[in-house]
Amino acid sequence: MNSIDTTPVTDRHAPAVPNPYVGRPLVMATQHGKADVVGDLFAAVGLHVIPVAVDTDRFGTFTPEVPRPGDAEDVAVAKARAGAAAARLPLALASEGTFTPDPDTGLLVVQRELLVLVDTERDLTITGRAAGPAPWARSWAVDAGADADADLDRILAEVDLSHQRVIARPDPAAAPSSSAPASAGITKGVDSPGALRDAVRHAARWSPRVVVETDLRADQAPDRHAVIRRAAVDLIHRMHTDCPACGRPGFGAEEHTGRAPCSACGATTARPTHVVHRCPHCSHEVRTPAGEGTASPGDCPECNP
Ligand SMILES: [Zn+2]
Ligand SMILES: [Zn+2]
Repeated sequence: MNSIDTTPVTDRHAPAVPNPYVGRPLVMATQHGKADVVGDLFAAVGLHVIPVAVDTDRFGTFTPEVPRPGDAEDVAVAKARAGAAAARLPLALASEGTFTPDPDTGLLVVQRELLVLVDTERDLTITGRAAGPAPWARSWAVDAGADADADLDRILAEVDLSHQRVIARPDPAAAPSSSAPASAGITKGVDSPGALRDAVRHAARWSPRVVVETDLRADQAPDRHAVIRRAAVDLIHRMHTDCPACGRPGFGAEEHTGRAPCSACGATTARPTHVVHRCPHCSHEVRTPAGEGTASPGDCPECNP
């Protein structure tokens, strides 16, 4: 069973032995420039990220031509193992992102990023995670008939193609037949109004309705980088935090629990009371207080309805 320990993590879990990863090269399997996105964060703690070219798209794409096998973490681990094998080095990183509608609003898109370290020497996997709203991840439907130009003008007014790219693809729900290959009609990295018109015309050969959406590949979507970097910071922290029970690195905050009372009226709020830190290897848990134990009246449904 998991033991519960309320000692502050920072006091208790400072590494007692030199960290096993300092000064080691980390291979990063990437096709979309992710080593450039996180390399400086690892360099700051003495870890050298070496990009290695692996066809990561064979593990799944944001566009429908290659479905993702398994969940995001399985995919990231598979990519990292491919990188370790390609470079013949024991430590490898890989990242994976998912974009899903926020269940509370149904409108906002939530970006979740994870960055895994696979340590093939000691058979450990450590995962850093981060999430945040991604209002820049957009999708539009274009009817490829007479009004296509009006739809395209509307899209071009809402997206800055000098800053981020879009893709165009046939909408399979509107396609007359499903005999076309999954990759048919998809154009990625669209970076100008002219290219967008061509891409929509191309996709319209397979479906009268075309989906235009933000190109989510890391090298095409600079707005994606902030959350990837936060996942890297979480991973770096875990690599330097040993589990108090089994001594292996990877220990870190996993979830928030509890509902703190309002400091003014005592009503229950959505603010958590505790953070749960967990070991990915032995499942040992430590619970630490989240903040003051009470919520400010600004977060209270009674004081600030
Ligand atoms: Zn442990
Ligand atoms: Zn209150």
